[in-house]
Amino acid sequence: MAVREIRKYGDPVLRAKANPIADVDEEIRALATDMLDTLAKAEGVGLAGPQVGEERRIIVVHPPPPADDEEREEPRVYLNPEIVEKRGPQETEEEGCLSIPGIYETVRRPHAVRVRARSLEGEDLEFDAEGMLARIFLHEIDHLDGVLFIDKIGPMRRALLKRRLKEMAEE
Ligand SMILES: [Zn+2]
Repeated sequence: MAVREIRKYGDPVLRAKANPIADVDEEIRALATDMLDTLAKAEGVGLAGPQVGEERRIIVVHPPPPADDEEREEPRVYLNPEIVEKRGPQETEEEGCLSIPGIYETVRRPHAVRVRARSLEGEDLEFDAEGMLARIFLHEIDHLDGVLFIDKIGPMRRALLKRRLKEMAEE
């Protein structure tokens, strides 16, 4: 168990296309544990393999509770996750990213998705997610293809952020 360093904007690993995971072995289980620890320490809602320097198709997801008086679910690990269906309407919400600290921008994403993935126990999963949870899956699965949320904001907003992003990349 270990908290890993979260890679920041400018690190080339964040732009790599991550590789599928063929077998759930000790190495993958250890990586999953590290990612859960890292996400908990960062108090985030999601984390993808490349963010801890691993070009593997693995994400961990820990959505906030649906309402203030409801309990938060345990975080979950998904291997080789993919979006198999997107359903509207498009919604615009503010997003941030543990790899791009301090920057929050509104991003348009579909309201609901159907996700296919494998569990850490090796089961094939297929399920629907909507709202905030759908957004987390879309954001984290984008990471596996080297896509960041700032790629999805308008050109005006991106122009305004250009200098801050350049500074971050040079750190
Ligand atoms: Zn992110």
